[in-house]
Amino acid sequence: MYNARNKRKSPFNNRNRGNRNKNKRKSTYERIDVSRFISKSTVIEKEEIYLPTHTFSDFKIDAKLKLAIANKNYIYPSPIQDKSIPHALEGRDILGIADTGTGKTASFLIPILNKIINNREETAIIIAPTRELAIQIDKELSDLARGMKIWGVVCVGGAPISAQIRGLRRGCSIVIGTPGRLLDLVKRGEINLSNTRSVVLDEADRMLDMGFINDITFLLEKTSAERQGFFFSATLPKPIEKLIERFAKDPVKVMVKTRDTSKNVEQDVVRINRGTNKIDVLCDLLNKENEFKKVLIFSEMKHAVEKLSVELIKRGYRAGSIHGDKRHNDRQRTLLKFRNNEINILVATDVAARGLDIPEVTHVINYEIPQTYDTYIHRIGRTGRASKKGVALTFVG
Ligand code: AMP
Repeated sequence: MYNARNKRKSPFNNRNRGNRNKNKRKSTYERIDVSRFISKSTVIEKEEIYLPTHTFSDFKIDAKLKLAIANKNYIYPSPIQDKSIPHALEGRDILGIADTGTGKTASFLIPILNKIINNREETAIIIAPTRELAIQIDKELSDLARGMKIWGVVCVGGAPISAQIRGLRRGCSIVIGTPGRLLDLVKRGEINLSNTRSVVLDEADRMLDMGFINDITFLLEKTSAERQGFFFSATLPKPIEKLIERFAKDPVKVMVKTRDTSKNVEQDVVRINRGTNKIDVLCDLLNKENEFKKVLIFSEMKHAVEKLSVELIKRGYRAGSIHGDKRHNDRQRTLLKFRNNEINILVATDVAARGLDIPEVTHVINYEIPQTYDTYIHRIGRTGRASKKGVALTFVG
């Protein structure tokens, strides 16, 4: 168990947080041809039927875990689970090239939980790029570990560190967090990774984009040499490939075909003529309530996101916002409201919305043009899920 109570005199307890790699997202503004935002011929693709080679009961895992999986109504393993869990249970390192929505979370939580059930001294660290993703992982963990007395603590930036320290001191088996905060807690001597034998990097490429590569390397270096690594990334940029080469031993590579969501998404542009008020155009669209049932609106800057959501609320819409300047609890509350349909409009920055699995989004609106085409694809992938048609509209000036 993580319990750093006796490790107060850690050599890292120097409170030096100065070298943290701040968010250094490059401002490479790709000039995107507007015609790439238009695609009216949507193909409603049936979700490809994957025939798993295993059932959950085939896996050599504890009966309690099988019960928890059944309680989640997971009947068949998803492709990534099917292909990776048997190897992970044998202790192999895993390199998963997969996006959100593939079931990757359970693919690493199931083997890790099984390890902990068999040896209560085992600990794991799960590193994720955003608070929301960390919380999503923790939620899946609570479900899968129900009644097992295996605890996870979420350690993310933007939330009070004191509560996280209290959680860690109570003792837990799994820490889930964002790189900067985890680094801070390791340096304060609150997390001791020297015996940690399970390490997960989730959305490694995103963490690289966000300037976290040095923090992740530092954290990995602190874990046990006997570690088992679970590395997940949608793409494999060179620095991530190098990192995995350094920290993984002959990993089993599992690739899950990223569903081309754009085929299910009708894409069009909305031209904003000179002298027209952009927000009025947006409201005209939102007034078609029968169509615009659940709308995710992207804007580039945090203050612009906040301003837009405040304005929409003023005009009587059920809207909310998530961005980096909002308190962590507020973001969580807003997300929950959006999930539960208490609000039907969510305004977000790309970073805040990254990796989130929000069902039934009918429309994605790019209130501002995304900086890269890759970001555009990520954004529109929030709709058109589960064989449903989605609509993506991009405002162009
Ligand atoms: P993830 O990619 O881990 O974010 O998972 C995406 C969604 O799939 C989540 O809502 C999971 O609860 C769900 N999920 C994961 N594994 C399975 C499974 N074997 N069967 C059905 N749903 C699953």
